Parts: sequence; C-alpha cells; structure tokens
Amino acid sequence: MLPVKKTSKSRSRTRRSHNRLKAVNYSICKKCQSPKLPHAACENCGYLNPKITLDVAKEETD
Ligand SMILES: [Zn+2]
Repeated sequence: MLPVKKTSKSRSRTRRSHNRLKAVNYSICKKCQSPKLPHAACENCGYLNPKITLDVAKEETD
C-alpha cells in the first residue's frame, strides 16, 4: 500500500511539534543541596528522609 496523498512539510512538522523531550524533574537534597530525583534517596549522601539515610559506599575507580 502507498500513501494516498503526499504529507506536506507543514503537516509533518505540525505533527512533530509535540515530539520534544521534557526536562527531567528533580528536587534538591535537604542535607547536601545536590540535585536528586524526587521520592528517591540522594545519590551523593544517601539521604531520603529524617528517618531513613542509606549507606552510600563510594566506589574507587582506577
Ligand atoms: Zn544528599
């Protein structure tokens, strides 16, 4: 099957106008002020909430 009619530049560009990526939402860690994902422990210090702080072992790379 072939397309019945050529899709114009305007039509395809209008369709693609909704295709852009959204910026990732993030919040700031209360403890170390580094950006982190909401509802997730901080990657830098492991802080999640006053009751929960995860141990973040720093891996050595060489
Ligand atoms: Zn933190």
